[in-house]
Amino acid sequence: MSVQEMDLGFDPDELREKYRIERDKRLRGDANEQYQEMVGDFTHYVDDPYIGEEIEREPLTDEMDVIVIGGGFGGLITGARLKESGIDRVRIIEKGGDFGGTWYWNRYPGAACDVESYIYLPLCEELGFVPKEKYTHAPEILEHSHNIGKKYDLYKDACFQTEVTGLEWDEQAGNWIVRTNRGDAMRARFVAMSNGPLNRPKLPGINGIGDFKGHTFHTSRWDYAYTGGGPEGGLDRLKDKRVGVIGTGATAVQCVPHLGAGAKELFVFQRTPSSIDVRDNRPTDPEWAAGLKPGWQKERMENFNTLTSGGIVEEDLIQDGWTEIIRNLISMANYRGKGLQRSEIAEMMELADFQKMEQVRARAQEIVNDPDVAESLKPYYRQFCKRPCFHDDYLPTFNRDNVHLIDTDGKGIDEITEQGVVANGELFELDCIIFATGFEVGTDYTRRSGYDLVGKDGLKLSDKWADGMRSLHGLHTRGFPNLFIISNAQAAFTTNFPHAMDESAQHISYIVNQCLSGNISTIEPSEEAEDAWVQEIISQARLSESYQASCTPGYYNNEGKPNPVSVQNATYGKGPNPFFKLMKAWREEGGMQGLELS
Ligand code: NDP
Repeated sequence: MSVQEMDLGFDPDELREKYRIERDKRLRGDANEQYQEMVGDFTHYVDDPYIGEEIEREPLTDEMDVIVIGGGFGGLITGARLKESGIDRVRIIEKGGDFGGTWYWNRYPGAACDVESYIYLPLCEELGFVPKEKYTHAPEILEHSHNIGKKYDLYKDACFQTEVTGLEWDEQAGNWIVRTNRGDAMRARFVAMSNGPLNRPKLPGINGIGDFKGHTFHTSRWDYAYTGGGPEGGLDRLKDKRVGVIGTGATAVQCVPHLGAGAKELFVFQRTPSSIDVRDNRPTDPEWAAGLKPGWQKERMENFNTLTSGGIVEEDLIQDGWTEIIRNLISMANYRGKGLQRSEIAEMMELADFQKMEQVRARAQEIVNDPDVAESLKPYYRQFCKRPCFHDDYLPTFNRDNVHLIDTDGKGIDEITEQGVVANGELFELDCIIFATGFEVGTDYTRRSGYDLVGKDGLKLSDKWADGMRSLHGLHTRGFPNLFIISNAQAAFTTNFPHAMDESAQHISYIVNQCLSGNISTIEPSEEAEDAWVQEIISQARLSESYQASCTPGYYNNEGKPNPVSVQNATYGKGPNPFFKLMKAWREEGGMQGLELS
């Protein structure tokens, strides 16, 4: 049966046109420049509201085998894998007051993981731990982070409330000098940077943003002293407050139900609706958990990656919204009843996507009572143009009398005044504005890290990467010996990011052990190996360019303006599992191919 003969229940051409119109409304010349960086008058937005006591300590000038920058999952897993392999002198440096990273900062009411917790929470088997729910809530994830720190003795040498201000390679000593805002000048033979992909909150760059006289904060620094309640909700101090929330991304989707329940009046300012699919969270079945066989977590993680990168498996172990789109595709392909060409697969993918998004739109229609509000909440773009969301209480919140969706039809809010927010030309007077406006993506790596690196012969990383990233495996960069970069750029991308971080951590641990046991003082990639890897990334990344261009603006496509270096800074195009295999094969081959050893 051909596509034309299928009873789709929608007209693909009409939808394509509608998607184009909605995208065009949102395209803007300033793209990623539209946001206000949290510097100068805005730095108070990033103050840490969770610190109990200020830590006091003398500056450190000691030496470690490995310093890991960042105490989120990436840093913790790296620390754990190093310790597990017998390397003890490992120090994690963390800006926050404890381990946790994303989960240290994001404590907003309703925060929970969206990727199944059995695969999202790292080192579950190592800790003999199975999360309480399929999508567990933030406090349990934060506690798990602390437990990783305890299990692997990472607290011993950790430096909290400490921000790295610079890294400098000491050629003579053959180690890194790590400087911090506490006057430290510690040394380490190896440095692993795990600063996180979404670590710098951003604000919309709109007129009057500094003028508001009421209360205001960003979701990643939730002010419970003002709102009352806690991560589970109960925001009782808002009961006489008019609250505005700006943004309707994955964060807003989780906190809006609690704000709606707590505030006297809630105004949700929307520029683009998120796709809100079924959440279907449930407690973990103890019998199932007891029956898990060794190796279960890795098997499940790989199953998820295969499915979400378009592969076929015998059984979908995860069975959730992330894997569903691929299940749809497979069933459509079977419907056709024969092998498909590449172009036909792309066409099928688009149809499966239309079908999924039609379901998402129908869900809004069904749940939200006011048909105009329901229409405004319908997303018109392909599912992976923006981060898909899964929630069962977000849409019903708009049926509350005290909750008002202020849809700006793609324009965003007009300005902020002393009294509140102006949108669609109307002033909404507010007591509090909450910015659910996300985090910097696509700005320079060193800007997001908060420090620059000075490698061999005074080479700065910001200069080296000014025209695009250059690395081997996304992990090493020439001129910066004994440095590891943990990120998904030029490396694996998976929706289940902690999985990729664990693979990097194991790779780092292997290399550090090879060096320490083999009397190798430095490693850095050869020019040829780096060139070849950059070419490999570029040649694979091109595949998704037209998809990106057709998307509504968002951080997935550099706010709709192709970044000249986005192809080069892309992730490994063949998918996460092939990347992990490639890295494993590299380790098994021995000899650390592509690295110059001294
Ligand atoms: P996002 O960047 O996804 O969302 C920011 C929101 O602010 C968007 O709705 C954006 O609109 C809106 N916005 C920006 N500027 C304006 C403006 N001038 N006027 C009106 N609205 C504006 O940030 P989030 O914090 O929601 O999520 C960031 C990421 O963090 C997610 O994509 C996800 O990867 C991760 N996350 C994961 C969670 C989980 O696993 N459970 C939960 C929460 C977040 P527009 O769409 O038009 O740009």
